[in-house]
Amino acid sequence: MQTKFIFVTGGVMSGLGKGVVTSSIAKLLQLSNQKVSCVKIDPYLNYDAGTMNPIAHGEVFVTEDGGECDMDIGNYERFLNQNIPKTHNITTAQIYSSVIEAERKGEYLGACVQIIPHVTDEIKRRIRKIAEDEKLDVLVVECGGTVGDIESLPFLEALRQMRLEAGSQNVIFVHVTLAPSLDVVGEQKTKPTQHSVQELRRIGIQPDLMAVRCSSPLQESTKKKISMFTNVTAQDVFSCHDVKSIFMVPQILYDQGIIDTIFRKFGKFGLVNTSENWDRWNAIIRSLDTTQGDVKIAMVGKYVTLADSYVSVNHALKHAGAKIGRSVSIDWIDSENINGNVDQLSKYNGILVPGGFGVRGAEGIISTANFAREKNIPYLGICFGFQLAAIAFGRYVCNYKNANSTELEPNTANPVVDLLPEQKTVSNMGGSLRLGAHEIHVKGNTLAAKTYNSDKVIRRHRHRYEINKKYIDVFEKNGLIFSAESDNAKRMEMLEIPSHKFYFGVQFHPEFNSRPGFPEESFEAFVRASAS
Ligand code: GLN
Repeated sequence: MQTKFIFVTGGVMSGLGKGVVTSSIAKLLQLSNQKVSCVKIDPYLNYDAGTMNPIAHGEVFVTEDGGECDMDIGNYERFLNQNIPKTHNITTAQIYSSVIEAERKGEYLGACVQIIPHVTDEIKRRIRKIAEDEKLDVLVVECGGTVGDIESLPFLEALRQMRLEAGSQNVIFVHVTLAPSLDVVGEQKTKPTQHSVQELRRIGIQPDLMAVRCSSPLQESTKKKISMFTNVTAQDVFSCHDVKSIFMVPQILYDQGIIDTIFRKFGKFGLVNTSENWDRWNAIIRSLDTTQGDVKIAMVGKYVTLADSYVSVNHALKHAGAKIGRSVSIDWIDSENINGNVDQLSKYNGILVPGGFGVRGAEGIISTANFAREKNIPYLGICFGFQLAAIAFGRYVCNYKNANSTELEPNTANPVVDLLPEQKTVSNMGGSLRLGAHEIHVKGNTLAAKTYNSDKVIRRHRHRYEINKKYIDVFEKNGLIFSAESDNAKRMEMLEIPSHKFYFGVQFHPEFNSRPGFPEESFEAFVRASAS
């Protein structure tokens, strides 16, 4: 069986929503009963996203198999409701590492090692391996960056070669661009699109389909103009205008006939009736649109200046709201500014503290966790938010005045949170945290057991520090219990205060397992408690 490939490239500027176009096309194929998956190429030189600041680059998305990936992988998982392995996020560093390693082993048998063919071969090998290993009908590959970037050239060259080798009946190029409207005249401008397609053709790629971002639907005259200048027939120029939710994009592309176009180009015929798939998907999308009774959540964290820094947490809250038929509004509050006016949090129905690293803003989070406890406001602490909730309890209930994490205060007299023992010998920061899915055991008769309705859950992790077991007894005597553990009780995974309305912390990252229509359990329980 020959897997069909769809390559998605981007022009004009970054941040156009290539990831959403890629996910939407993949979703439409999945709804059409195709076995489909997505790959994200990131042409930057980092080996993975793990060492990148979320404020600059958006959230680091953690996969089940412990990959620290670009946040688009999260979009793919949420759209497709399927796990994406870490091999699906390809970077320049990974490609070059493999090539250099092979060269050092002498595998190139005396050849001069070059970008073409050695680097491009390695890119093609990885893409084809995914298609073969997973026996996919269609693999949608998104090439990050913007056409014209130096970094993406070897990748685009590899994709060009794949089209030549596999033939046009097996490979389609989709180019995503922007048609801005100038306020004064309201006309949709096509020049940036024209230039970006010229750039693409200069490197040998003629797009088959255009997906054009615009604020209102692309006018027929604009489509015709884009068609003429880009050499793509007008019916293959698709409008990707602004919609209320990214999950509505598959529908607008479908309505313009994109699936028929793709199937025609691939020479696939005889589409079966997939209305049941559509009904299921549409019911989920409708539920996300609820506007009933707002639940106000304060999200107190470190990386609040970019909405994308906590994108999975935002989605997970919405999934949970949709499940209980309530809309959730989120205010991001910078934990650096909270001390001195923590009272501002009293107007919220619930307080969530997501993950984070380092000392800046940590004291604000500790005050936040303490405030939520004292005022009986539902609290969900994730990873850093779990660790700092324990520190707050240590300081203000157990009277360990200087309770802290050795991440924040290496010489603290009361290291309530301390480095994982196996981390003591780690010197490289990249890829060395405790990562990915681990099995967690839940104690009976606890909020945790009620939330997960099971004595076992598997969740994704990304941390270097953990609860210091020395303090567990004192904490439990004072009313905070650790209700789940992992690695033969070596690690504490959940905490709760039974006398509180809802005070819950998790060492893992539940947000990465939340999907539209299937909220992760701790989010659902938190939003339920906040709504009541
Ligand atoms: N900085 C903490 C640790 O490394 C928490 C990490 C996180 O929130 N992802 O353990």
